Amino acid sequence: METLVKQSEVKNYIDGKFVRNGQASMDVVSPLTGNTIATLPLSTYDDLDEAVKAAEKAFPTWSEMTLKERVQIFFRYRALLEKNMDELTQLVHLENGKTYGEAKAEIEKSMELCEFACSMPQIVTNEVQEVSKGVECRIERKPLGVVASIAPFNFPNMVPHWTLPNALVLGNTMIMKPSELVPLSVVRIAELLKEAGLPDGVFNVVNGGKDIVEAICDHPGIKAVSFVGSTKVAKIVYKRATSNLKRCVALGGAKNHLLVLPDAHLEMTASNVVASMSGCAGQRCMAAAVMVGVDRVQHIIDKMVEEARKIVPGDNLGSVISKEAKERIEGYITQAEKDGAKILVDGRGATVKGKEGGYYVGPTIIDYVTPDMSVAKEEIFGPVISIIRAKDLNEAIDIENRSNYGNAAAVFTQSGGLAKQVMEKASAGMIGVNVGVPVPREPFPFGGWNESKFGVADITGRSSIEFWTQNKKTTIKWNPEAKTNWMS
Ligand code: NAD
Repeated sequence: METLVKQSEVKNYIDGKFVRNGQASMDVVSPLTGNTIATLPLSTYDDLDEAVKAAEKAFPTWSEMTLKERVQIFFRYRALLEKNMDELTQLVHLENGKTYGEAKAEIEKSMELCEFACSMPQIVTNEVQEVSKGVECRIERKPLGVVASIAPFNFPNMVPHWTLPNALVLGNTMIMKPSELVPLSVVRIAELLKEAGLPDGVFNVVNGGKDIVEAICDHPGIKAVSFVGSTKVAKIVYKRATSNLKRCVALGGAKNHLLVLPDAHLEMTASNVVASMSGCAGQRCMAAAVMVGVDRVQHIIDKMVEEARKIVPGDNLGSVISKEAKERIEGYITQAEKDGAKILVDGRGATVKGKEGGYYVGPTIIDYVTPDMSVAKEEIFGPVISIIRAKDLNEAIDIENRSNYGNAAAVFTQSGGLAKQVMEKASAGMIGVNVGVPVPREPFPFGGWNESKFGVADITGRSSIEFWTQNKKTTIKWNPEAKTNWMS
C-alpha cells in the first residue's frame, strides 16, 4: 500500500507545478506501521511569497469568470473524487491511520462539500431593489483576493474541502497549508483540481509547520485566514492574523459532553456513545469525550462496556496519529486511575500483530470521573470516554456549561421535553438529540462556540459565503432627467 505514495518527496504546488522548496525537511510517518512513507519540505517565507505571487497573478482572470463558469470545474472535480475514491481512501488510511471505512466516509463528505459549492449559483443571487422611483440599490458579493486555509491532521481530505470549494467558486485564489503529519492527500487534491481544469495559480499548496503558519498570518498579500486545529494554536493564529488586519475564522479543540438520561433507548444509546468516542480513534473534534450519566444509567453503562469490547485495534479501530499521541492518551488514563476513577475498559498497551511499530490505543471507558479531574476537563483526543455521574438534568447541564470548549453536546432520551431543555441550555455550537456525532450536513454550517471557535463565521455552509466574500453596494440613478430625489 505504501507504493500509493507517488512522490516520496512531497513538494509544494505553486502556479500549477510541483516545485522543490524549503531549506529543511521532515519525515512523514504512517501511524499504521510507524514506517516513513515520504519526506516533506519545511517551507520558508520566501516559498510562501512565491505562492502568494502566483495566486495574485491568477486572481483577476479567475475572479472575472462568472460563478456558473467556475462551478463547472467543481462539477468535474467532484466526479474525479468519485472516480478516484479508492485511491483517495487508501491515502487517508495510510497517512492518518483511520480505518478504510472511516477514510471512505471522509471522501464522501468531501464530495458533499463540493456539491454545496456547485449549488452557489442558486444561492448567491445578489440583491437589487428600486429604493425610490428610478433609483436602485444593489448588493453584489465579491471575492476577497488571495486567501489561506490551514488544516489539522485528523481529516486530511475532508477539512481542506471545508474551505477550498467554497472559497474558490466564490472567486478567491488560495494557499493551502496541510498538516505536516498528513500532507499526501492534498497532493492528490491539487492534481485532481488541475485535471478538472482549474487554472494554474488558483490553488497552491505550501508545506511546513509553525513557521509557515506564522508567515501566512503575517503576509500582506493574504486577505483572509481560515484555521482548523487545537485551541492553543487557534488562539495564536486568530490573534496574529487579525492583528495584521486579516479576516480570520479559527476552529479549535473540543471536549464534547453527551448527557444520557435513564429513559434513553438502551441499544441505540450504548452503540452511539461508543461509536462517537471511538470512531476515527477518538480523533474527531465532534467525538464524545465526557458522558454525563443522569441518575440511574448503570444498565446503559454495562451495555457500553459490552459494545466497547467488540472494538479491536487494527480491525475496526484505526491507529492514533503518532507515538507522542499514544503516550499522551495513555498518560491521561493512568492519571485518571491515580485520581481515583475506575477504568471499566482499558485500551492501554494495545498492539496489532504484524504492525508492532504502529500507534494503537484500544477503546477506554473511565467511570466515576469527577469534574475536577484532568480527564474531565482537557482534550485527550483518543478513543477514551470519561463518565461523570449527575443526580439530575440540571446538574448535568451545569457540568456541560462549565467546559471551556463548546463544539458539540448531545442528549440521549426519549422525552421531547427533556431533550428541549438540553437544546436550549447546552453551551455548544452543535447539538445532537439521540445523535452522537451531530455534524450538520450541508447546507447547514459547521462551527462551535466558546474556545472551540474564534471569529464570527462558521466554516462551511451559508455562513462561509459571508466569510469568503465582501459586499459591494451600488446605488444607481437610471434616468438622469427624472426630477427624482433619490432619498425620497
Ligand atoms: P494543531 O493545532 O497541532 O495543528 C493544526 C495546524 O497548525 C497544523 O497545520 C500545524 O502545522 C499548525 N501548527 C501546529 N503548531 C503550531 C504553532 N505553535 N504555531 C502555528 N501553527 C502551528 O492541531 P492538530 O493536532 O493537527 O489537530 C487536532 C486538533 O484539531 C484537535 O484539538 C481537534 O479538536 C482540532 N480540530 C478541531 C476541529 C473543529 O472543527 N473545531 C476540526 C478538526 C480538528
